[in-house]
Formats: sequence, structure tokens, C-alpha cells
Amino acid sequence: MAFMDDLKKFGKNISQKTSDMVEITKLNSAISQEKEKIRKLYYEIGTAVYEQYKAGNNLGMEEKCSQIAEIEQKIEELQQKIQEIKNSKKCPGCGTEVTADTAFCPQCGSKLN
Ligand SMILES: [Zn+2]
Repeated sequence: MAFMDDLKKFGKNISQKTSDMVEITKLNSAISQEKEKIRKLYYEIGTAVYEQYKAGNNLGMEEKCSQIAEIEQKIEELQQKIQEIKNSKKCPGCGTEVTADTAFCPQCGSKLN
């Protein structure tokens, strides 16, 4: 009955391989979740370093930090262009967007020029 034994072994191998694949998929998913946690921590580290840079503390990353500062400036310019197109402006007090001819912020009451 060597043939039947081989057949049984073959079937067992297939189900073993299937459960191995399921296990590997689960483990890869767990690895992805852990890597995502690292990415979040990297982000927090980066933000903390940049906050220190803005506060005038040199943590040896000033080149990257100055790149972020330049990018933030560029984003600011792009946002201003959108405000020009929409004929709006931002309240310097609270950041609320109002039409360009608004004299006082409806949110916080700041005088707008
Ligand atoms: Zn305001």
C-alpha cells in the first residue's frame, strides 16, 4: 500500500503548507504592525528634534530642520495663494478663515486689516 501511504503523506503536506502560509501571513501582519509603531515613534522623535531646532537648540540635525522650515514656508505661500484665489484671509489671532473684507474676526473678535 505504498501508493496510499504516499497519497496520505502528500495530502498532509498540502494542509501543513496551507497552515504554514496562514501562520506566515499572520506573522508578517504582526511585523507590519510593529513597524508602523516604529514609524510613529520616528515621527515623534523628528517632531521633537524640530521643536528643539525652532527653540534654538542644536541637536546636530540643523540641515534637515532647515529643510523642514523651508518646506513650511513654501506651504505657507501655497496656502496664501489659495486664500488670494478665494478672496479670503486668515485671522492672526485664531487662524479662522474669513473673507478679505472682514474687519473683525467672528470667532475671537481680533481686528483684521
Ligand atoms: Zn480670530
